[in-house]
Amino acid sequence: MTECIFCEIVAGRAPASFVYTADLTVAFMDIRPITPGHTLVVPRRHAVTMREVDAASWTAVWDVVKRLQAALYETPGVRCEGINLFVADTPVAGQEVPHFHVHLLPRFRGDEFGLRFPPGYGTIAERAALDQQAQNIQAVLRS
Ligand code: AMP
Ligand code: ZN
Repeated sequence: MTECIFCEIVAGRAPASFVYTADLTVAFMDIRPITPGHTLVVPRRHAVTMREVDAASWTAVWDVVKRLQAALYETPGVRCEGINLFVADTPVAGQEVPHFHVHLLPRFRGDEFGLRFPPGYGTIAERAALDQQAQNIQAVLRS
């Protein structure tokens, strides 16, 4: 056994309810669904954070996300009036399983799921501060 449950699932050594399998990626049902139809898309190759995911796996994962989101809207028994995509990148962002994955979370009116915003959220930021942040990020992108 490796220490990574998603590597165990990918290798077929731990159980999962697969909805999709391919060379670079798999998708299976979340074991603790927030809403019915809650699905995870996972690259086969172990990578903990987004930074560590290779380009081919990244493309494959998001291609599957695109196909799956369309399927969820049509799936009998899945009440899908909307979808949230969610990635928890590192524990501070809520990552519990240290193998990159994308959540597809079907949403419907009254599902009682929600995101909690910090106190003070809603204040329009100073344009100068936004411009400065944009420039700082641009500089990193160019480097
Ligand atoms: P997070 O790392 O916080 O983005 O979320 C990890 C997700 O993986 C949670 O929603 C868990 O319910 C789910 N999970 C953990 N173990 C398994 C498993 N063996 N099979 C399917 N889903 C799992
Ligand atoms: Zn892994």
